[in-house]
Amino acid sequence: MTVEQQTRFRTLKDIPTPDYMSPGGSLCAGCGGLLAVRLFHKVLGPNLVWVNAAGCLTVMVNYPYVPLKSNWLYTAFASAPAGAQGVRDAFDILIQKGKIPAEEDVKVVVLTGDGGAYDIGLQSTSGAMYRNLDFYYLCYDNQAYGNTGFQVSSATPIGSATATTPPTPSEPGGNMFKRKDLFEIWRAHKPPYIATLSSSFAVDFLRKVEKGSKMKGPKLFISLAGCPTGWGYDPRETIREEKLAVDTGIWPLKEAVNGEVKHTYLPRALKPVEEYLSTQARYEHLFRPTKRTEVIRMIQNDVNNYWKMVSKDENVEIRLVGE
Ligand code: SF4
Repeated sequence: MTVEQQTRFRTLKDIPTPDYMSPGGSLCAGCGGLLAVRLFHKVLGPNLVWVNAAGCLTVMVNYPYVPLKSNWLYTAFASAPAGAQGVRDAFDILIQKGKIPAEEDVKVVVLTGDGGAYDIGLQSTSGAMYRNLDFYYLCYDNQAYGNTGFQVSSATPIGSATATTPPTPSEPGGNMFKRKDLFEIWRAHKPPYIATLSSSFAVDFLRKVEKGSKMKGPKLFISLAGCPTGWGYDPRETIREEKLAVDTGIWPLKEAVNGEVKHTYLPRALKPVEEYLSTQARYEHLFRPTKRTEVIRMIQNDVNNYWKMVSKDENVEIRLVGE
């Protein structure tokens, strides 16, 4: 069966109309994380329990008001996967004992930012994968600790200024640490499904959530989360920013089914990373007052090297920048 035959999502017109989130809310305008939750919810429907680790998106709930037409459980930063285990076990036992019908079963989704996913919650996530917990894990990756003032996380990219890695005379390029590779950390645990997402490629996004929903076990979705407040761009431009991240090759769209990696979008020719970096205030120090060519080149080289590897592995031709 072709991919087209396996999915109910073929064009943007197939985005389901029912919305399981109320409009309004207390998050920043243009939040890419919120957009990711909205799309994710549309695929899985209302029978969900969100287990929300501390982070930006916990702010969407102002007790006792919850903007979701589903269930929501708040946990501390490190323990969302443990919370998900408790919810999953409770439903399994209730169904087994005939206390609730199987049709009333729910899907359990951990919702976390990159601080929880890459740093503080990594240990409990590893434990949940080890126990082969049947759950979804949605990381909205805005590449820093957004709700506490945009401090560096281990998902912050090279060159980004954050509250804790501002450009200084001794480190004029901002953050100089490479992001952890969460996709590969998960892959080493051998879960059935892992995917990267961006709301700017909505059909690809929906298809992946649909595909993961057919598999039992731990399922990871890392969604780029454009963050106007922390990245420094106009809130209207979230989709444009996320699309640029994909078109420059900075944010590859890919999946791993039972460990086998495949890119779901292969740009024929990459756009220069400069086109993306120059639109965000967090990279402003790379352009003004002096252009930090060495840092921009370092970022471009990393991107080129990644796609060289993809070209070889997936036997496709991709035009790189400056080579
Ligand atoms: S800081 Fe960024 S990620 Fe957090 S709510 Fe605001 S826009 Fe969203």
